[in-house]
Amino acid sequence: MKEEVVIGLEVHIQLMTKAKMFCHCSTDYIGKEPNTNTCPVCLGLPGSLPVLNKKVLEFAVRTALALNCKINQISRFHRKNYFYPDLPKAYQISQYDLPLGVGGYMEISLPESGEKRRIGITRVHIEEDAGKLVHEGDIASSAYSLVDYNRCGIPLAEIVTEPDFRSPEEARIFLVKLRSIVQHLGVCDGNMEEGSLRCDANVSVRPAKSKSLGTKAEVKNMNSFRAVKKALQFEVDRQKKLLSEGEKVIQETRHWDESKNITVSMRSKEEAHDYRYFPEPDLLPLQVDLKMIEEIRRNLPELPEVRKERFTKDYQIPEYDAEILTSSKVLGDYYEKACSLYNNTKILSNWIMGELMRYLNEEKIEIEDSPISSENLVGLLILIDEGVISGKMAKIVFEKMFKTGKKASQIVKESEVIQITDKNELIEIVDRVISENPKSIEDFNQGKEKALNYLVGQVMRYTKGKAKPDFVFEAIKQRIKR
Ligand SMILES: [Zn+2]
Repeated sequence: MKEEVVIGLEVHIQLMTKAKMFCHCSTDYIGKEPNTNTCPVCLGLPGSLPVLNKKVLEFAVRTALALNCKINQISRFHRKNYFYPDLPKAYQISQYDLPLGVGGYMEISLPESGEKRRIGITRVHIEEDAGKLVHEGDIASSAYSLVDYNRCGIPLAEIVTEPDFRSPEEARIFLVKLRSIVQHLGVCDGNMEEGSLRCDANVSVRPAKSKSLGTKAEVKNMNSFRAVKKALQFEVDRQKKLLSEGEKVIQETRHWDESKNITVSMRSKEEAHDYRYFPEPDLLPLQVDLKMIEEIRRNLPELPEVRKERFTKDYQIPEYDAEILTSSKVLGDYYEKACSLYNNTKILSNWIMGELMRYLNEEKIEIEDSPISSENLVGLLILIDEGVISGKMAKIVFEKMFKTGKKASQIVKESEVIQITDKNELIEIVDRVISENPKSIEDFNQGKEKALNYLVGQVMRYTKGKAKPDFVFEAIKQRIKR
């Protein structure tokens, strides 16, 4: 039987407002003393009342518009009830039947086939985040749970897609682009490891060409793009195996275990009615006037798709390069800054996509924390152009720059990896090599061209590789002309 994979995503993004969603507490909670960024409102104490932060609405409308959603001019808040220690009110203020944005889409391109796919966005709604449970060691072996309410009431936008993905890779490509979009919008920093962008996925498998959906499992706890792809692939394979053995997939929530590379059953999946949704009586229906929507639409910044097009035109680089360089806002900024200082824009993109991204990936460093600034990268390329160092030496200098954060010129000065460009100095060494190797000269005179390579090698040895080989070759040839 041929099967088809069906995946839908639910993505939560933390909106980068200064204050929380319904109170004045600061959203700057990472690394703060537990339970210090709290007040009666975000702790849900009796008698406290929520007031919506207007910036939250503005950021969410921006996000929904960038995802081509229709904005509901009237939407409303619901209470989503569930009992869990990180949720002091025992309900979360969210949106249910009337979300802020509906019916959008995002286009993704699949690099292997060159195909473009349109992924439906079902809805974009706003809700408050819960606190965090902290455990000694891992959750299964810890003797107790500690609770930190600093994250309570941080604003989130939830983006729900249609079940339009047909492979884990498509889901990964979508997420990379979504992250770049929210970064360009300035609404979320997109840091998956710190949890400011979180992704859950609904995965199911059905017979190819079937119209009905198979039973789905929800996969949670994926903290990187790589984890998303690995977890989804594991889940797809697990379900295919079950079905091929005549077993059934159970509707449940599964947890991605990064250390074991498997998904494990967490709990049976809740249905909407389990949450006892009811309208939030403390907040009026949310009214967004057309003027505000149009104002936000007019002021939308340049988004990655448009930026990519512009890169191919302004900097004359292939679409492939432009796609990668706009896959994060900061990476795009890095490239543009470098282009403002250096004319060969393709060489720049080669160095960034090659050496720089390789080292960043290896050391798990984000581009925003790159030890080599765009100015310093340009500094290195200028040294190559001036003939101070060769392309080969530049790779060594680059590695040292990455490790120390120093400028190329400083490293060259300190380590003497400088090319000998002083012709008189070189000629002296050439002459010495010629006089020391009469046998090679004889061989050359008898037609053995290879003898010349040996002499070049000797000069390189004397200069510890700091001479330009083509110059040495010409110089020797001139002097021992037959
Ligand atoms: Zn508060």
